[in-house]
Parts: sequence; structure tokens; C-alpha cells
Amino acid sequence: MTALLEVQDLRVAYGKIEAVKGISFTANQGEVTTLIGTNGAGKTTTLRTLSGLLKPTAGRITFDGQDLATVPAHKIVALGLAHSPEGRHIFPRMTIEENLLLGAFLRTDTAGITADVERAYGLFPILGERRKQAAGTLSGGEQQMLAMGRALMSQPKLLMLDEPSMGLSPLMMQKIMATIVELKAGGTTILLVEQNAQAALSLSDRGYVMETGRIVLDGTGADLLHDESVRKAYLGED
Ligand code: ATP
Repeated sequence: MTALLEVQDLRVAYGKIEAVKGISFTANQGEVTTLIGTNGAGKTTTLRTLSGLLKPTAGRITFDGQDLATVPAHKIVALGLAHSPEGRHIFPRMTIEENLLLGAFLRTDTAGITADVERAYGLFPILGERRKQAAGTLSGGEQQMLAMGRALMSQPKLLMLDEPSMGLSPLMMQKIMATIVELKAGGTTILLVEQNAQAALSLSDRGYVMETGRIVLDGTGADLLHDESVRKAYLGED
């Protein structure tokens, strides 16, 4: 397995509060890797640091063979790392199509961009049906799809998804999870952050459990799904 992303002894702090306390993990090429953990464990902080939005206080991030410490934040997308953030962050007054096109802001291949917009509509038909409408009129789940579609428009090597199932109906959640499987089959490497451990681990090659800024357990998705402590803490079993 080739590591596309390698995180070593990463530490991130907000002022004096250390939110990530020396974590190491790997996302292998072509795999789905998941970080699970309770509220405040440091998962979002980790993704924001990988995107260059936060500066680590220590540690090393290697992406596609390059040390990210040497890459300015605005160049990280160009390297092939895309982030679909928690809480979606779509632009409500712009149309669905305009939101998608924003994801392609670094690209100049007009035909390729058009093809990828159509691909997003293929993945999420509701976006195509409503392409000219303001994105703010979409439901929460549909906005989540738009955020994912927009992240894909940069043709990322690594797609980072922060809680894509948050606030979704079971049906919408299934749709998002099926899309993740489809993207993986198409060769995209995925780093997933999820509170819904059951759904996420079921489709993950590898998972890491975070607690208060540390990784306390790791294994294959199947291993973690069957782990007694994971089942108790995250799957609501006694
Ligand atoms: P959740 O699932 O609730 O989003 P998480 O695992 O993603 O949790 P983070 O959002 O990374 O956790 O938060 C990790 C810790 O850092 C928490 O204690 C949180 O309160 C703190 N934190 C997050 N953002 C800030 C900030 N901007 N300033 C200060 N502390 C912060």
C-alpha cells in the first residue's frame, strides 16, 4: 500500500489549549480512512490543519511525497487535497451550478470542467434538476451533496469529508455513503471524519479512534466495528 497522506506526531493548539496532542496516521492511496471520536476529540481540527487553515505547533504532514509545511495554504488545493467542511459552507445566494464551479477555480480546462459538473449531477441528480436555483433553497442533506460535489470539482487526489452524514435522514445518509463507495471505486482516496461510526467503519479500509486529541485505537474498519470498546463507546452497546 502506498501512503498518499502521512501524518506524524501532529500537534495543533488554539492559543494555550492543545486540541491535537501528537497524532500519527496514514491514508493509503485508493482507500477510505476514517477518524471517529466523540465531540471535541480534535477531528475537525486535524482536517483544518491538513487543509492549511491551521498551523501545527509540531509534527510532519507528508502529502503525495511533499512536506506540507513548505506549501502555503492557498497552494494546497492545487496539490490535490480537497476539503468538504463540517457545516457545509456553501454560498446560499449563488446558484447550485455557481457553487460547483467555485470548486474548479484553479482549473482552466473548460471541457473538463463541464464534464465534471455533469458528473456531479450524475452522482447527485437533485443538484442537476435545480442547477439554476439559489443553493440556499436546498435542504441540509442536499447542501451536503453540493459541498461534496464542489470539493470533487478540483479533481482531488485526496477528498476530506467532515461529518458528511450530519443532520441527514437515514435515506440521505445512505446516499452519501453509497457515493463515497462509488468515489473510491473511481480511484479517489478519501479521509472521512464521522460521528456515525457504524456507517463509516463499514465502508472504511482503515479507521482511527480519537479521544481528547489523541489516537487511542486503530485498525481495519472491520476490526474496529467488532472491537468491544468501540462498540460500547460509539455504537451504543452495553
Ligand atoms: P466535533 O465532532 O464536535 O466537531 P471534533 O473532534 O471535530 O469534534 P474539534 O472541533 O477539532 O473536535 O475540537 C477539538 C477541541 O478544540 C475542542 O476542545 C474544541 O472546543 C477546541 N476548539 C475547536 N475550535 C476552537 C477554536 N477556534 N478556539 C478554541 N478552541 C477550539
